[in-house]
Amino acid sequence: MGNQSNSFKIAVFEGDGIGPEIMAPTLEILKSASANYDGISLDFEILPAGAGHYRDTGSALPKESMDRARASDAILLSAIGLPDVRYEDGTEIRPQVDLRFELGLYAGVRPVKVFPGANCPLSDPRAKDIDFVLVRESTEGLFAYMHDGKVVDDQYATETLKITRDTSEKLFDFSFSLARQRAAEKGRPGKVTCVDKANIFRSFWFFRSIFEERAKLFPDVASDAAYVDAMAMWMVQRPWDFDVLVTENMFGDILSDLGAGVMGSLGLAPSADIGDDHAVFQPCHGSAPDIAGQGIANPLAMILSAGMMLTWLGHQHASPQMIECGQGIDDAVTRVLSSKRGLTRDLGGQLGTEECALAVLDVFQLSGSKGNQEAG
Ligand code: NAD
Repeated sequence: MGNQSNSFKIAVFEGDGIGPEIMAPTLEILKSASANYDGISLDFEILPAGAGHYRDTGSALPKESMDRARASDAILLSAIGLPDVRYEDGTEIRPQVDLRFELGLYAGVRPVKVFPGANCPLSDPRAKDIDFVLVRESTEGLFAYMHDGKVVDDQYATETLKITRDTSEKLFDFSFSLARQRAAEKGRPGKVTCVDKANIFRSFWFFRSIFEERAKLFPDVASDAAYVDAMAMWMVQRPWDFDVLVTENMFGDILSDLGAGVMGSLGLAPSADIGDDHAVFQPCHGSAPDIAGQGIANPLAMILSAGMMLTWLGHQHASPQMIECGQGIDDAVTRVLSSKRGLTRDLGGQLGTEECALAVLDVFQLSGSKGNQEAG
């Protein structure tokens, strides 16, 4: 944890498709944080990157943008990518993935919880208790050599998976610390489950062995392991049983969308990609080209990601106000959803992006020391 500070520089990437539509109202909510919470000052710098930028300039993530992002306190990123904008090898441009590698953001944090009023597809009454976090390793695994996949003589294709001791140790320590923090906040024991395929692949047996070594350093946190195929089933059958799940990059990529489905919509699923010195906050979903430009995208995953950013900054800089402010955003979303005031079409409502974000802004403005005074 660094020195106490409440003044931060935020690098902002507006993204493609629905990206700018959900980023604009999110920035309005963040700007109101300075008005509601004593001493908080956020300075935003909008930087170019993305599929549209690549189409126009030939660069998906300009060096200047990368340098500015590296110099910021945190990075807020909207959905990036357009299916028809591709490199010569046929793959899509993916600056969001490049950022994870450049900045060493090994821990992809994907909270999965069911908000009251959201469309959880599970009818079991225990679904309301779903509250776990998926930690997706985000710099290696099957993505480690994503630029080097080969198609040979049009007959076969190969990709390579990499697991390193160094990153795995940091990933598991992060996951156990997160479970410890959640246990303290929720007043119950914590648990980490390693999700792998250690029955078949040596790389995953290595992954699991390191997990078991690191578990011994956190005796207050329970630990166990599961195979990824079984976990996919349990995330539907009994997701309320999990606390922190930690897994390889590709498995995490897939399971986090399953988690979003359990939450009721991709439009509710936030994420953070965290490393030793930097962090990027973005919704789990993509740029949704099918609904871009219509003003109907759900902005809540973007707004919740912004809340995670404030909470992370608070922990990094020993600032209780920032932690409270991040929680204020989460609470405002929860209240808007439970009152059914903020339902966009993906959640069975009729609200547009701006109306939904305005409903959150209204509630958020009543939080914090200054907001409370006004409300009182
Ligand atoms: P997607 O997440 O964009 O869309 C999947 C479905 O979910 C679509 O029907 C879409 O309309 C809906 N959806 C997504 N976000 C929504 C929201 N906020 N509100 C309401 N509905 C929402 O996935 P896709 O179609 O596979 O990918 C589209 C583009 O996004 C591709 O170029 C892909 O590479 C990119 N992508 C980027 C990220 C990222 O930036 N992290 C993640 C996934 C996909």
